[in-house]
Amino acid sequence: MDKSTNIQYLKGVGEKRAGLLNKLGLFTVGDLLQFFPRDYMDWRKISTIDEAPYDMPCCIRAVVNHKPKGAKIRKGMTIYKTVVTDGHSLMDITIFNNKYSAEGMEAGKEYIFYGKVGGNFHRREMNSPMVTKVEGEMRIHPIYHQTAGINSKSVEKLVNQVLSGGEKYFEDCLPLSLREKLCLMEYNDAIYQMHFPTNEDLLSEARRRLIFEELFLFQSGLMSLRGSRNETTPVFFEKDYTEEFYSLLPFSPTSAQRRAVSESVKQMLSQNVMNRLLQGDVGSGKTAVACALIYNAVKNGYQCAFMAPTEILAQQHFQTCKKFFENTDISIALLTGSVTAANKRKIKENLKNGETDLIIGTHALIQDDVEFPKLGLVITDEQHRFGVKHRGALSQKGERPHTLVMSATPIPRTLALMIYGDLDVSVLDELPPGRQPIETYSINSKIRDRAYGYVKKHLDEGRQGYIVCPLVEEGETELAAAEEYAKRLSEGFFAGYEVGLLHGKMKPKDKEQVMARFVSGEIKLLVSTTVIEVGVDVPNSVIMVIENAERFGLSQLHQLRGRIGRGQYKSTCILITDAQNEATKERMKIMTQTTDGFKVADADLKMRGPGDFFGARQHGLPQMNMASLTDTETLTEANRFAKEIIHDDPNFEKEENKYLKAAIEKLFNSDLAMN
Ligand code: ADP
Ligand code: MG
Repeated sequence: MDKSTNIQYLKGVGEKRAGLLNKLGLFTVGDLLQFFPRDYMDWRKISTIDEAPYDMPCCIRAVVNHKPKGAKIRKGMTIYKTVVTDGHSLMDITIFNNKYSAEGMEAGKEYIFYGKVGGNFHRREMNSPMVTKVEGEMRIHPIYHQTAGINSKSVEKLVNQVLSGGEKYFEDCLPLSLREKLCLMEYNDAIYQMHFPTNEDLLSEARRRLIFEELFLFQSGLMSLRGSRNETTPVFFEKDYTEEFYSLLPFSPTSAQRRAVSESVKQMLSQNVMNRLLQGDVGSGKTAVACALIYNAVKNGYQCAFMAPTEILAQQHFQTCKKFFENTDISIALLTGSVTAANKRKIKENLKNGETDLIIGTHALIQDDVEFPKLGLVITDEQHRFGVKHRGALSQKGERPHTLVMSATPIPRTLALMIYGDLDVSVLDELPPGRQPIETYSINSKIRDRAYGYVKKHLDEGRQGYIVCPLVEEGETELAAAEEYAKRLSEGFFAGYEVGLLHGKMKPKDKEQVMARFVSGEIKLLVSTTVIEVGVDVPNSVIMVIENAERFGLSQLHQLRGRIGRGQYKSTCILITDAQNEATKERMKIMTQTTDGFKVADADLKMRGPGDFFGARQHGLPQMNMASLTDTETLTEANRFAKEIIHDDPNFEKEENKYLKAAIEKLFNSDLAMN
C-alpha cells in the first residue's frame, strides 16, 4: 500500500463505500491521510453529568438505560430518545433522524457521548451527541466531516488501519535544513499527530508545521513565478514631469493623488525598480495617478502597458487616456480580443517599432507576439482578477520595468503581502472634491414598489440606475430567474423605459455590448446579477436597488454600491432584505452608516473571520486549507525563508529541494484558473 493506493482496497471498504468516500473527496490513501479532522474530542477529560458545562462540547461516559425508542414526527423525520446514566445522575439523549447511531446503542452498554449539555437543573440532556463505544485508549480522538453512510468513527478506523504500521507515506517537501532551522515537525509525523494527537502541544506543533508549509509553498511559488527580483533596473528616468502632467488635467489632483504620484516617481527616478500597489476606494481617481506615471515614463523615453481585466474597462481607460493626453504627442493604442486581425497586426507592429508609447488592453497584451523595444512601466487594474500565472507575464516583456497594480478592494496588509509579495503600497484615502456621499437605506420587501417608484423618478430626471436581481430560488437557474425578473420589470413597472439585462451566462461579447449601451445612456435601467463590472464609470447612474441584500458580504455590497455616486449628482442605494438575523442587521447598519471602503473592509474582516478571505477565492489565490490571515507571524517567517530559498536556488534545482519543487508545481498547476 502506498499513498496512491485506491481507497477501495482498504479493509472493509469495497466498491460501495468507496463511492461514499469519494463524495468526501477521498479517492486514495493519500487523500484519506490529508483529510484532517474538523475537531477533536478528548477522552482524557471525561465529565460527569452533573459537572458538565453548559453549551460547551464535552465528553460524558455513561451507560444506556434502554434501547432508543423511535417516533415518527413527520414524513422523513424520526426522533429517537433514551436515557443514560453515569452512575450518579441521569441524562436524556435525543437523536434526530439518525437511525444508524440510535440503533447502534444497546441497553446496559457503556458509551462516550460527545456534545453540548443542555436541559435544566433537574434533568440534563444532550441532543444529537456523537456516540462512540468505549474501546481502545482514553486519548484525544479525531472528529471528521461525515457524509450519509460514512460516519466519523469509520473514517477514524480507516485512518488507523493505514497509520497503525508506522509507515511513511509521503516525502517531506520541506528541505531538512529548513526544518531543522525552524524546528518543524517531519511531514509524516505531522500527519499522524493531526489524526491521533499525543497531546495538545504536539497537535499544535503539527498544525504549525502544516500552516508554515502551506504559506511557504505559496510564497516561494509566487516568487519564482514572478522571477528573480533585482533591486535595480536599467529603466532610467532622468526628469520628473509630474507638474507638466497636472497642467493637462481638467481638475486639480487631490492631495492623496499627489502623494501617490510623488512616492512612485521618486522611486522611479532613483533607479530602484518600483513594485507598487495602489489602493483606493472606488471613485478615488486611480486612473489619473496611473496616467501621471505613464506621462513620466513616456516623456523619459519609455513605453507603457496598461492592462485591465475586461474589454469594457480597457475601452474606458483608453477613452480616459485619450482625453488626458489630448494635447500631447503621446501615441496610444487599444488592443483587445475584439480588434480585427488586420488591426491587431498593425497595432503590434507599431508597438514593436516603438511608434506607440502607450498600449492599453486586456489579456491580449500578454500574448507572445506582443513585443516592446522599450517597456518601462506596466500597470494592471484590478489585478486580483487575473490569475497568478498572468501576473508578471507582462513585465517579462521588458527588462525589469516598473510596475503598478491598482486595486479597489481594500485588503489587509498580510493579504497584500501574500498576493503581491514584497511591495510598496500607496493609498488614496480621499475622494475628489464635490462628490456627494451616497445615501444608503435598508428596507423590507413590503415597500419594494416605493423603491421602484423612487428609481423611476430618477430615470424621469434623465439619470440612470441599476437593480441587482433577487436570489435564485431553488430549482431555478440563475439565467431563468434574471430573465424573468427583468421581463417583469420591463413589461410592468418600468414599461416604456429602456431596460437592459446583464447576467453571468452571457457571452463576454454580449455583456460588453449591453454595458456599452448603458455607458452611452441608451439603456436607462440595468438589471443585473452580480456581474456588473468592477470599475465601470458611469457618472450619470445615481440609483441602485439591491434585492436580497442579506446574501452579500459587506465588501461585495460596497463594491456594488461603488457603481453609483461617481458624478455630481446625489446618489442613493436601497438595500432590500427581509432577513431578521443579527448578522444581517449588523451588515445593513454598517452599510447605511459609512461609505468608507476601508471601514467596510475592516468590519467585513471582523464579521466574517479571516478564513473567508481565502475561502471565497476572490483574490485568485490557491485555496488555503490550514492557514488564515491571523497567522501573521508564520506568514512573515514563510516570506523570509521563501526569499532565502529563491535567492539560493531560484529554480529549485538542488537535490534537497526536489520535493519542494514538485509540491509547488502541483499547487500552482491545479489551482490557479481564475478567469
Ligand atoms: P477609480 O479609482 O475608481 O478607478 P477613476 O479613476 O475612474 O476612479 O475616477 C473616477 C472619476 O473621478 C473619474 O470620472 C475621474 O475623471 C474623476 N476624478 C479623478 N480625480 C479627480 C480629481 N482630483 N478631481 C475631480 N475629479 C477627479
Ligand atoms: Mg478604476
